[in-house]
This record gives sequence, structure tokens and C-alpha cells, in this order.
Amino acid sequence: MISAVVFDLGNVLVDFDYRIAARRIARRTRMSPQQFMDFLVRSPLLAEYEMGRVTRQHIFNEIRAATGFEGSLEEFALSFGDIFTEIPPMVQLQAALRRRSFATYVFSNTNDMAIEHIRRAFPFFSNFDGYVLSYEHGVMKPNARLYEVLECQSGRRGAELLYLDDRLENTATAASRGWQVILHESPEKSQAAIRDLGLLAGAERGA
Ligand SMILES: [Mg+2]
Repeated sequence: MISAVVFDLGNVLVDFDYRIAARRIARRTRMSPQQFMDFLVRSPLLAEYEMGRVTRQHIFNEIRAATGFEGSLEEFALSFGDIFTEIPPMVQLQAALRRRSFATYVFSNTNDMAIEHIRRAFPFFSNFDGYVLSYEHGVMKPNARLYEVLECQSGRRGAELLYLDDRLENTATAASRGWQVILHESPEKSQAAIRDLGLLAGAERGA
């Protein structure tokens, strides 16, 4: 019996585009936006940062050394974090589930600059029962250890948990632990899947 719904963040609750950061940051470096993107994609820095193995200061120092970035850490953090747009039908879906007394969780591979920005920019982000964020636990999805943290924090396991994520490797680990999963492809499909599971009744059915 599902009692909690777990949401991936990127491509599920918010869209993100690192090219937005690349355009803004590259202006303050000796690189073009494309060169900055290529650097970011090739570098192991972002994954290390999202696993909490390096600090914000460290990733800033490394990027400054590699690119010639001229601004402060504060300026960098603002540009680096501001790459998200809310996905309204998914935010509304979370709110509808919450009104029906389901616990809701955020479960994300992310970093502290992103989360600082999201907390500030999107009020919906405060309306969850808990947050399991890769950089706070030293491990990323699809590593099972992060799923154990979610189970521990929520006090739930197996089929009590319903999980939405847009990446198959992430839903696969969840399914192997007995969680119910929805591979998120579009808000319409995920809404329909949740209605089919019977989680939204009455007036909320059409939401
Ligand atoms: Mg995602």
C-alpha cells in the first residue's frame, strides 16, 4: 500500500539547462559558452561535487584555475545555480498528493549551489516531508546506499514507496528494492499512471 511518493528533481519537478550557466559564466572567462560546457562535461568535478567529495570552494577554485573566471564565488554560485524552471503540472501533482495525505520526498543527485537556488526561487520546494540529496550523503543514485537513506528517513520500504524518475537506471534500483516505480516521460503520462494506481480520487482525478 503506497503511503509515500518520492520525486526525482531534475526533469521531473524542474527542468534544467547547464547552457544557461555556461552562457553567463563564460562571459567572465577566456572560454566560449561551448568551450565551458565541454570543460564541465569532460571534467570529473561535477560528479565529485554532487557526491559531496569536494566543497563549493574547491570546485570554484578548480574552475577558476581552468577557465580564468574573473568573478567572486558568490557571483559564480548565483550563475551556476540559476539554471532551473519549474514544471507546473508536476508541482501541482505533488501538491494534490500532499492534500490527500501522502508523504512526499525529494530524491536527487544534486549539489548545494543548485539547492540553495531552488530553495530561494521555488516555494513548492519547501512542501516536502523530507529531502535525500546526493551531496549530503556521499553517494549518488543509482547506488543502493542512497535508497537505503530514503527508506531510513521515511520509515518506509518496498511497495509503500512510489518513485518517479526520468532515468531508467534510477528506477531500476528502486524496483529491485520492491519500490513501485514510474519511469517519468511526461507530466501527462505520470499523472495518468498515478490516477491508475488510485492515488487521486474524486475532484483531484482530473488534476
Ligand atoms: Mg532526473
